[in-house]
Amino acid sequence: TAADTKAVDVVVIGAGQAGLSSAYYLRRFGVRPETGFVVLDRSYGPGGAWQHRWPSLTLSTVNGVHDLPGSSFEDIVGSDSGLVPASTAVPEYYADYEERFELPVHRPVRVTVVCDRGDRLRIETDSGIYTARGIINATGTWEHPFVPWYPGATRFRGRQLHTKDYRSADEFVGKHVLVVGGGISAVQLLDEISRVTITTWTTRREPAWRTEEFSPEIGRAAVALVEDRVRRGMPPGSVVSVTGLPVTPAIRAARERGVLERQPIFSEITETGVQWPDGSQLDVDVILWCTGFRSSLDHLAPLDLRNPGGGITLTGRLATQVENDPRIHLVGYGPSASTIGANRAGRAAARELVDHLEAEAHAT
Ligand code: FAD
Repeated sequence: TAADTKAVDVVVIGAGQAGLSSAYYLRRFGVRPETGFVVLDRSYGPGGAWQHRWPSLTLSTVNGVHDLPGSSFEDIVGSDSGLVPASTAVPEYYADYEERFELPVHRPVRVTVVCDRGDRLRIETDSGIYTARGIINATGTWEHPFVPWYPGATRFRGRQLHTKDYRSADEFVGKHVLVVGGGISAVQLLDEISRVTITTWTTRREPAWRTEEFSPEIGRAAVALVEDRVRRGMPPGSVVSVTGLPVTPAIRAARERGVLERQPIFSEITETGVQWPDGSQLDVDVILWCTGFRSSLDHLAPLDLRNPGGGITLTGRLATQVENDPRIHLVGYGPSASTIGANRAGRAAARELVDHLEAEAHAT
């Protein structure tokens, strides 16, 4: 009934870095909290996906959490917090942020479906329905772990898990762990697990180690490449494939321990392990898939945003706006899938959406 339906101008979906930055700028550009916009988040507490990260991922092992607009991370969590798990520090920072800027975050509210009702978008959730003139989608990737398919996957009698399910190396003591994937998570988890048990590493491609110091130029080039892909409607692709894997002191030490000798990818999974095209086999107890994530966009399916190739064509200043639909922005997707990118994209999306709503109001 109409009584269960709340009408606002903008619904922000997700309260991670991308959603909070968007909310901050919506406020700043004059959209009123609650009556003008709300932020809906399915998690029970603040922190976005950071609250779910494994405990050994500390502030000294993450790449870096960029400040949200208007608030310093260091001021909230302290400057000597290197050993603090990111899963406690970032939620603490976001909680303070939501309160400080009085952001209208509603949780736990899971958006199940967004559909187009002509002049308004209808946002269905597990606790009520919203209608809005625009949305900023900022749902991240954590809900969408990606595991590639290999023949025999269901035959394997050992344990298979994804990065998302990893808690601590201790649970693998005495087991042979096969780590699959060529990204930063694969390398970090290999480093940890290889300290307590035997590991094997397998990747599809030769790992791309970074040969030079990471610089803002390298970062910008990586983002530009991904941005170009989404402007052309292609799936965003991985940023590490452009920036290369960082060689930290821990990684150097792992290399010296010989745990970063990489095997090519297997072709089949057996009951007891994996098999390569030449018939050679390896028995393992655990397959740990560090094979990344995809954007959590299932709730947007009725909007039919995807091209046949699986990409979504984006436009606008920082490539956040869905092509031909100024009501819909994706933030934290593609070029803005980093804490710094999410910040900037939140601003661009809020600006463009507010401008669109004003233009639309004048036209009617
Ligand atoms: P998230 O933090 O995932 O927030 C999305 C929010 O949306 C969540 O709170 C979720 O509950 C909510 N949500 C999802 N679906 C729905 C729904 N249907 N309805 C309602 N709410 C929903 N980036 C960096 O810049 N530095 C790093 O050091 C770094 N380390 C990383 C380490 C790992 C292991 C991973 C996986 C990623 C890392 N990243 C890092 C990338 C990082 O995830 C992003 O930069 C950024 O934090 C993502 O922010 P976000 O707001 O887009 O998504």
